[in-house]
Amino acid sequence: MGILLKNVQKVYKSGDVEVQALKNVSLTLPEGTISVILGPSGSGKSTLLNVIGGIDRANGGEVHIFDQAIHEFNDDQLTEYRRKYVGFIFQSYNLIPTLTVYENVEVGAEISESPLPIDEVLKGVGMYDKKDKFPQQLSGGEQQRVAIARALVKNPRLLLCDEPTGALDEETGKTILRLLQDVHRQFGTTILIITHNQGISAMAHWVVKMKSGELVECAKNEHPIDA
Ligand code: ADP
Ligand code: ADP
Repeated sequence: MGILLKNVQKVYKSGDVEVQALKNVSLTLPEGTISVILGPSGSGKSTLLNVIGGIDRANGGEVHIFDQAIHEFNDDQLTEYRRKYVGFIFQSYNLIPTLTVYENVEVGAEISESPLPIDEVLKGVGMYDKKDKFPQQLSGGEQQRVAIARALVKNPRLLLCDEPTGALDEETGKTILRLLQDVHRQFGTTILIITHNQGISAMAHWVVKMKSGELVECAKNEHPIDA
């Protein structure tokens, strides 16, 4: 199984206030599928993604990713898991401003055991001709492509995307989605995408809906369409 969550709980405490960000979330998603996570702001989408990606720890329940019980991992094992299996793409591109496009992607390659060739990945996202530019010389869409290249160069089995098109105009957003679909076709990557964009849900194999920390729906999309 790709992703298997059983009764996952996550509570955030700040002072006397407790927020139940995830309430008894159970979920199975097969390896090699594209899934979207929908839901209003504050419903637990990012928390769910972070628990699956080993950025955040659940307080209870079980998290199995590619048949590994990551809820039982210690900090070193969790770091190793993230390095080996997971690529992250966020809404804010988080590129290093003092490094060129090429060097930013190199950072991703260096932490991987089986990186893809940097030049090939840059060509794949259409940024090879700008490999010597710095992030501030690029448009938002271009920066997001570099951030995607940095995640992809690791050749991750699991690609987690938190609002990857949130800061982009519609046309650029579509380009990014096509890119994710291409990656899926080429490598069979398991992809999870948090989004408010209905167009993204149309291309997904599975649609997961969150509300107030609960998983309210996990539905198979029998006819995913091309982005
Ligand atoms: P979104 O709603 O788009 O997921 P947020 O602005 O809610 O984004 O969250 C951005 C980041 O801030 C996330 O990493 C989240 O874990 C963190 N965060 C959200 N709410 C709180 C909070 N009440 N206290 C501390 N950190 C928070
Ligand atoms: P979403 O991604 O759907 O916007 P989040 O997972 O970011 O939702 O947040 C779920 C709930 O947990 C929200 O009430 C948010 O304020 C809270 N939360 C998220 N991260 C933190 C944090 N680091 N500290 C405290 N509360 C948080």
